[in-house]
Amino acid sequence: MPWVKEEDCIKCKICVNVCPVENAIYLKEDGYPYINNNICTRCGLCMEKCPRNAIRPNFENPALRGFGRGRGGGRMGGGFGKNRIW
Ligand code: SF4
Ligand code: SF4
Repeated sequence: MPWVKEEDCIKCKICVNVCPVENAIYLKEDGYPYINNNICTRCGLCMEKCPRNAIRPNFENPALRGFGRGRGGGRMGGGFGKNRIW
């Protein structure tokens, strides 16, 4: 499941324009895109077209890595909620 690495994103909207699934990726109020993993088909087009390589595969998601440490009690238990994909 892809996610958007906002530090690398330049808000060019290419990902939103190339996505074949309506609303699977959309711009948030702050201008960064957000992927709705409930409807995203993981076609990979947004990742392929992003000029900054800002759409990253899920295993790189620091929020999810944090969850792997167990039930939110770990050091990374807070502060990453906005990046949570599922
Ligand atoms: S992987 Fe495909 S369906 Fe999912 S957000 Fe990217 S372009 Fe859209
Ligand atoms: S294509 Fe990449 S840089 Fe452009 S808005 Fe999407 S995630 Fe950001």
